[in-house]
Amino acid sequence: MSGPDPLAQDLANRCGLALLYHSTFASPPPLLGDALHNVSPEDLFRQLETLSRSFHFVSVDEYCTARDLKGLATITADDGYQCVLDEAFGVFEALQIPLAIFVNRSFMETQLFWRDKVRCIMERGRVEAFETRFARAFQRDPGQPFYRYTKDPRNNSIRVVEMLDAFLEDEPAIDEYTQYYTQLGQGLKVHPLVSYGSHSVNHYVLSSLSEDQQWCEIDENYRFLETLPGVYRTRVFSVPFGGNWDYNDATSRLVADAGHSAMLLSRGAVQRNDACHDGLLPMVDRVMPRDAEVPAFLADLQTRLSRKGR
Ligand SMILES: [Zn+2]
Repeated sequence: MSGPDPLAQDLANRCGLALLYHSTFASPPPLLGDALHNVSPEDLFRQLETLSRSFHFVSVDEYCTARDLKGLATITADDGYQCVLDEAFGVFEALQIPLAIFVNRSFMETQLFWRDKVRCIMERGRVEAFETRFARAFQRDPGQPFYRYTKDPRNNSIRVVEMLDAFLEDEPAIDEYTQYYTQLGQGLKVHPLVSYGSHSVNHYVLSSLSEDQQWCEIDENYRFLETLPGVYRTRVFSVPFGGNWDYNDATSRLVADAGHSAMLLSRGAVQRNDACHDGLLPMVDRVMPRDAEVPAFLADLQTRLSRKGR
């Protein structure tokens, strides 16, 4: 094994790293389109192997409660893509790196992820047809694209999904998308390196919902996780979409009330010291690595360090 990479070592001396992955297909199915955030198992191995020579990898729970994050790293995977276990688990096992998987009950119960409905309408070139029927029902900045305004917090996600469903009723079926998410009773991993956490029931934009609607999303998924047989669990909550506008004060309060221990965001920042506390819970920022070779991967992390979160 070679020594530490100087760039990785410099990062470890200055910050902690919480990385957010989604799918890890060796070759992503064309059906999922270009908007998919995918890192191949091969690149994943190279990225993590390089970091492991400078960083100490810990569980997400340990990371969120650490007093000093410098030199610590943790790995998370959101949305429950089955390929993370089928194609990339060997990477985590080989490197003995813990992995926290954040799941949504509805995708595990065969329902479609509503963002896949959005992606499907785009892939099939049906955006214009959708807008002819529904554009007036949306709050939208001039020129804001379909992909963006459907997840704009000004548009209640539950209403958005009703419109997507009404539109898709008259379109060819899109059920094939569900095969990519871990289904209940099919693919859960019982392993000390793998823990499961909550990412809400339906992955709505929480800040677009009423407090009651948010509570259902947060509390029901927390309780759903408790029913998963035998798996290791984390009480850390991963905020759907994870940007500054995707949650509000009520979210943090309800996440704490439901019994969670911390909140994960994904604003693309690396953290220098300990987690920020937004009043109630530790808030931890994550970075989404690109599917890139090690030099580009490290250079990207360096840029984010100089950009600094908050
Ligand atoms: Zn997600």
